[in-house]
Amino acid sequence: IKLRPLQVTDVWNEMLPIVENEALLHNMEVHFVTERSLFPLVVADSELLKQVFLNLCKNAIEAMGEGGMLTVRIRLEEAEQKLAVDVQDTGPGIPAYALDKIFDPFFTTKENGTGLGLPVCQKIIHEIGGMIRVSSKEWGTVFTVLLPYID
Ligand code: ADP
Ligand code: MG
Repeated sequence: IKLRPLQVTDVWNEMLPIVENEALLHNMEVHFVTERSLFPLVVADSELLKQVFLNLCKNAIEAMGEGGMLTVRIRLEEAEQKLAVDVQDTGPGIPAYALDKIFDPFFTTKENGTGLGLPVCQKIIHEIGGMIRVSSKEWGTVFTVLLPYID
């Protein structure tokens, strides 16, 4: 793994067309919201970060199925001194019984799922000193990736 200081918005700009294409095929809207044009740098491997974000977007798109809105927001979580990336969908949400299992390897509710997407995301984020959180209700789901940044 190649750790380098990077601008998270650059990572997103490289992969957004892929996500937008996939969303378009399913009549979904994609909103990309950044609260500023430059953020503090995070130290990470950009290919691994892309893998994490793509996995979260893929899950969001699979959860919504057809139609809906995928919102990606990059912001500073001042209180925790972290850079936050929210990947939010308007899908059916995650039932309470599943919420504490989704990061377990091989847990899947999909007929052809591997159940490896989220455990791999979590492992990558932990390796770079970050955290991944989920919040889910009837309105949908938001996964938040929190990354330490350089001052
Ligand atoms: P897979 O996608 O192969 O099932 P993941 O580890 O990526 O494996 O996800 C595990 C499970 O978490 C999924 O099967 C699904 O039940 C749930 N899940 C993940 N993301 C979402 C989401 N955005 N909305 C609803 N459920 C989700
Ligand atoms: Mg998945």
